[in-house]
Amino acid sequence: MSAPWSKPLDIDRLADGRTDVDFAVPLAELPKLRAQFASVAGSVDGRVRFEREVGVPVAELKMSGIARLTCQRCLDAMDVVVDRTVRVGMIKAEADVGRVPEDLEPMLAPEGRISVGQLVEEELLLALPIVPLHDDSAACGVASSPPSADEQEPLTTQKPFERLNELLKRK
Ligand SMILES: [Zn+2]
Repeated sequence: MSAPWSKPLDIDRLADGRTDVDFAVPLAELPKLRAQFASVAGSVDGRVRFEREVGVPVAELKMSGIARLTCQRCLDAMDVVVDRTVRVGMIKAEADVGRVPEDLEPMLAPEGRISVGQLVEEELLLALPIVPLHDDSAACGVASSPPSADEQEPLTTQKPFERLNELLKRK
């Protein structure tokens, strides 16, 4: 796989050069997303701006696009809109986490290298629902039966004290 977004980048060099990197990433090619979701397709594109803040290399990641996942209720496809900007402070070892300014998300970049694909992947793992479900019951294939049947059930259940009274009367 030799797509530009999959190449590990030297973050110190990019931060010092205040470099912008444009990208377009097909989500089906991100291994952690594939492991997390039953199916994943769609793509995001955007730009990473590298810079340095109090000595820490920072990536400002802007991405937008559509993630196509599988609804875990009806098993039909569902699209999740991705539109996200985050600022990530990159560290070479977990011990350096205290160096990352508080308004930044810390991210590990072993040996000072990370690919745009890894940045996008980590952010999507945070942004996307762990269990994808259609928000809208009209869009969800399973919700074709009237939802009232289930929802009314709690109203018809007896209150515990009334039942207790009945039991006492029987004695
Ligand atoms: Zn659904």
